[in-house]
Amino acid sequence: MSIHLLNCFTCNARRPNTLKTGTVCLLIESNEGLILVDTGLGLDEYAHPSGMTKLFRVITIMPFDQNEAAINRVQKLGYQPEDVKHILLTHMHFDHCSGLADFPHAKVHVHRREYEAFTEGKIRRFTEFAYVPRYIAHKPEFILYEKVDSKWYDFDAIRLPFEPEMYFIPLFGHSRGHCGVAIKTSGGWFFHAGDAGAVYDNETPKWLIQLVLGPHDAALRTFMKAHPEVLVSNSHMFPDFFTQHSIVI
Ligand SMILES: [Zn+2]
Repeated sequence: MSIHLLNCFTCNARRPNTLKTGTVCLLIESNEGLILVDTGLGLDEYAHPSGMTKLFRVITIMPFDQNEAAINRVQKLGYQPEDVKHILLTHMHFDHCSGLADFPHAKVHVHRREYEAFTEGKIRRFTEFAYVPRYIAHKPEFILYEKVDSKWYDFDAIRLPFEPEMYFIPLFGHSRGHCGVAIKTSGGWFFHAGDAGAVYDNETPKWLIQLVLGPHDAALRTFMKAHPEVLVSNSHMFPDFFTQHSIVI
């Protein structure tokens, strides 16, 4: 069994133009069928781009290639969309959940605070313009999490009901209920920190990281130094990341 690293949305900076990123989605072969972590941009977003996607097409360099949509990535690996039984969301911004409708049978697992922020309909922070209600118009079944019941290293953690062993790691700030995901693999732990940090990016100023991604970036970098045995990613990784690792569970 393995974890496939999928780039489900390429978005490159205009300045510095060396800063190129793909959006990390994980396809995990589990005891409960395939689990997708985040969806990237979905097919409907390509057909009817939201305001955020239109804005990003102006301020970044975006190929906007629907071959990158998770549903196409999954099919290219030889699976059917119905094989994806569960979707874990780090958070519900456009570039992380606009593909939910491409997997209408999947149960959607997310922190309760994030679901409530998405459905509340009140913008409390500029990043919340990235919440687009129609992404859940197909009314998927949601499984909501709130109670911390474990520790993963020094982080508070919420055990998820799957094998391999995995946890939501609450890292609030970038969005109200943002969580990372820690997954046990045969080679050690893989910690996907979502949009809570820019851990491999040394070009973006610290104040901008703090403003957009929230308060956890420095602690995540400290964690990475202390635990080189843990593979850490954030949501928007350099292009080589997707081919550098083959992760066996
Ligand atoms: Zn985000």
